Amino acid sequence: MKDQTRNIHLPQIRPPEDNTPLVAPIYQSVKFQFPTVAETLRSLRGERDGFFYSRSANPTTRQLEHTLAVMQGREDAVVCGSGVGAVAQTLLGLLKAGDHVLCFVETYGPTRTLIRRTLQRYGVHHTMLSIEDDAGIERVLAGTPTRLVIFESPTNPVTRIADIAHITRCARAHGALTVLDNTLAGLHQHGNTDVDLFIHSLTKYASGHGDVMGGAVIGSAELIRHLRRDFVLLGGVLDPHAAFLIQRGLKTYLPRYRQQCETAHRVAAFLAAQESVDRVHYPGLATHPRHALAARQMQHFGTVVSFDLRAGSGAGDRFADALRLFSIAASMGSAESLIIPPGLMGPNDLPADLAALSGTAPGTVRLSMGLEDCDDLIEDIAQALKAI
Ligand SMILES: *Cc1c(COP(=O)(O)O)cnc(C)c1O
Repeated sequence: MKDQTRNIHLPQIRPPEDNTPLVAPIYQSVKFQFPTVAETLRSLRGERDGFFYSRSANPTTRQLEHTLAVMQGREDAVVCGSGVGAVAQTLLGLLKAGDHVLCFVETYGPTRTLIRRTLQRYGVHHTMLSIEDDAGIERVLAGTPTRLVIFESPTNPVTRIADIAHITRCARAHGALTVLDNTLAGLHQHGNTDVDLFIHSLTKYASGHGDVMGGAVIGSAELIRHLRRDFVLLGGVLDPHAAFLIQRGLKTYLPRYRQQCETAHRVAAFLAAQESVDRVHYPGLATHPRHALAARQMQHFGTVVSFDLRAGSGAGDRFADALRLFSIAASMGSAESLIIPPGLMGPNDLPADLAALSGTAPGTVRLSMGLEDCDDLIEDIAQALKAI
């Protein structure tokens, strides 16, 4: 054998069967082999365990799927390259031309656009309501055959709370699936509800360090088996290295989420006492219009706090510029505290009548808590409020 051939065909170091790594390893391999064609074909027919090609399945991403399903209290999960990918591939996997979707003004912007623009093009119709319109939800589901309801709770940015039991009850009664984008509430919440499918952006709390993107849909084995076929064909796979980083992040998910919620609660209470602040949107405050419902459905009220500055339009930008510890950036769930540029938050894509339902005001500001000391964050907010 010449050097170059030997270099490619060196044997792999494998620990003995009873000598396992404490951390699940990264299988950074696209291809997996069996010693014979017969075993390869048996595996592809599903007659034995095994992996073949990482677009279909990879042990590291499979490990992550298993962890996510356990954390959310469902049977299985399928992951992909981003949260938006998970929304898009789930909707494409479940819907066909002529179907009707119930969705909400307060839904994540790209999800709204996907439904209003892309799915519309494929002949999927929708009705858009406010997530607080309980009577409207019941009326639409009873009156219009609906394939699925897609919603969020708390919503972003003004942390409205969906009545999950009401939505799942109406959907179940009229044969619609429920899809809850549970990114803001986190993987440990809402698992005790009757929701069919949970979507998560793993980019946020799951990874927790702002250095990797991913998405997941979690549900019954049957629904996930159905969706996995489409996920594999749509091709937005999660790389094993990204899956490994998210898997690592999940080990500290709960302590991070808890601390960020504690910080958010204290920040919300501080803001509520400030003269320059008109309204604070945080489900943990007794003044939140659906605090009692939130307290029934959630153990933790979330890490996002938004509020309306009395000074209105433009004040949010001045406040953001004056902050020192909050970075001006998108997203949430990282170690760093963040403030989103206020102008990017409103429902700019919606017609005026729907946009009016969104609950955002000209002076709305959204903060997302990091892992810094809470006293320092409050001091920073105090000085920035003074500066405006
Ligand atoms: C961020 C986010 C997404 C999209 O996730 P990406 O990983 O950024 O693609 C979807 N839904 C919600 C509620 C989000 O906050």
